[in-house]
Amino acid sequence: MSILIKNGTVVTSTQTLRVDVLISGESIVEIAPEINEKADTVIDAQGMYVLPGGIDPHVHLHLPTPAGCSIDDFKSGSIAALYGGTTTFIDFVTPSKSETLDEALTKRIAEATDSLTDYSFHVSPIKWDKTIEEQIANCIERGFPSFKIYMAYKETVGLNDDELYHVMHDVASHGGMVTAHCELGDEVDKLRNQFFEEGKVTPKYHALSRPESAEVSAVKRAMAFADQTNCPLYIVHVSSGESVKHILQAQRSGQQVFAETCPQYLTLNDSVYNDNFAESGKYIISPPIRSANNNDLLWEGISNNVIQTVGTDHCPFSQAQKEFGINDFRKVPNGAGGIEHRLELLYTFGVKNNKISLNKLVDIFATQAAKIFGLYPQKGEIAVGSDADIVIWNPNAQRTISAKNHHSKADISIYEGFKVNGKAEYVLLRGNMTIKNGQLVNGLNPGKLLLRKNILSNPVNLNTSTYNDPLADNCGRV
Ligand SMILES: [Zn+2]
Repeated sequence: MSILIKNGTVVTSTQTLRVDVLISGESIVEIAPEINEKADTVIDAQGMYVLPGGIDPHVHLHLPTPAGCSIDDFKSGSIAALYGGTTTFIDFVTPSKSETLDEALTKRIAEATDSLTDYSFHVSPIKWDKTIEEQIANCIERGFPSFKIYMAYKETVGLNDDELYHVMHDVASHGGMVTAHCELGDEVDKLRNQFFEEGKVTPKYHALSRPESAEVSAVKRAMAFADQTNCPLYIVHVSSGESVKHILQAQRSGQQVFAETCPQYLTLNDSVYNDNFAESGKYIISPPIRSANNNDLLWEGISNNVIQTVGTDHCPFSQAQKEFGINDFRKVPNGAGGIEHRLELLYTFGVKNNKISLNKLVDIFATQAAKIFGLYPQKGEIAVGSDADIVIWNPNAQRTISAKNHHSKADISIYEGFKVNGKAEYVLLRGNMTIKNGQLVNGLNPGKLLLRKNILSNPVNLNTSTYNDPLADNCGRV
C-alpha cells in the first residue's frame, strides 16, 4: 500500500515546508516539493498542516480505583486518541504490593492488546527492597526504560524519601529515567484529614489540601535526589509557575531534568471549584487546577524550553464514579479525560493565541516525547525512514467540545463548552489510515507495543544556552 499526501504544509519541530510526502508500507519513503509517483491513495492536503502523529506520554486507561476503573479502556481511550491526532501513548504499570515489576508488566501488556494506537508503558516501583534493582534492570532490558514514582498517595503507591533515593540510584545505574509525580504526600494527607474533620468536604477543599507549596517542595526534593544519584528526571504534570522556576535553575546547572505540563493547567483556573459538587467534582484531579496566574507562567515555560512536553494525564471517570465522594472529597476518584483534545487545545489556546509557534506545537505534541522516551526518530518526526504516523490537520474547522460528542466513554468533560479550532481530517498510523474525513475507519488492526531504547543510549540535548528566564519579568516570588 502506498499513500501520497499532496499540496500540504509539512510542519516539524524545526521546519515548515510546502512539500509532498510519499508513504510506502509503514514508513515515509520520500519528501519533496513535487512528487508525481503513482500511489494507491492520494490525499489532497491543500490548506492543511501535515504533522507527525501525537505522542501522549501520560495516560491512565483502565486504572483500578476504589470507585471502579477509569472509564476508558484501551480500545475506547485509543479511539479518542486517534480522533485527536494522537497515534502513540505511554500508559503505566502499577504492581500490587506482592507482584514484581516484571509480573505486573507482563499482565499490563496483555490488557492493552486491543489498543488501536501504538503504545508503551512506564513502570512504577511502589516500594524499594534489595530485589528491586534487578527488577528495574529486567524492565529496561525488555524495552521499558522509564519508571514512574509517586511522592503523593503514600498509603497506596507512594514512596518515602529513602525508597525514592534508592529507586533513583538503581534506575540511574542501569541507564533508565525516573518520571515523578511531585507532591509532598504527608503534608497533603495532613491537610486532607484536617479539612475533613472540620466538616469541609466539598471539592474546593481538594484543591486547598494540595497547595502549590506541596508541589514546589516535592519538585525541589526530587531534583535534589536525582542530582545526588545522577538520575535523569522527568517531572510529570507540572501545574505551578513556581515549579517552573526551580526546574529552570536545575536545567541551567546542567542537570538532566525534563518537565511536562497538561492542557488543563494551561487553560483552566481554580474558579472551577467554586460551584456545587455536580459541577466542581469533575475537576478533582491531582495536582489540582491552580490560580489563573499559573496559566501564563506555564505557557512561558513551554516557549522558553523549560517544559518539553504536554501530556494529558487522561484518566476519566463518570459522574456516578465521581459521586462516590460526594460527601467526602477524599473519596472522589482523581482524574479527568483529555486524550482527544490535546492538539485542538494547544492549537487554539497556544498557536492561535500567539503563545507558541506551529513548530513548538509539534515539538510539545510529538517530537520531544519521542526523544525523551527513546522512540525517536521512529516516532515524533516527519522524515524519510520514520514511521508514517501523520495527522492532516484542518486549521479552519471549528467545534465545541462536549461530553455529548467526544469519544471517551465518560459522560462529563472538564472542557465542556470550550470552542476550539482545528480538526484531524486524516490520521495515519504506520501508513494505515485510521481517521478518514474526520471519521474512524472501520475494522482497524490493533496497534503495536513499542519497545524503547535505553535512555542513556539516546541522550536528549536540552540546549540550555538558548533559554530565557520565563519568570524574570513577572515573578516577584522567591
Ligand atoms: Zn497521571
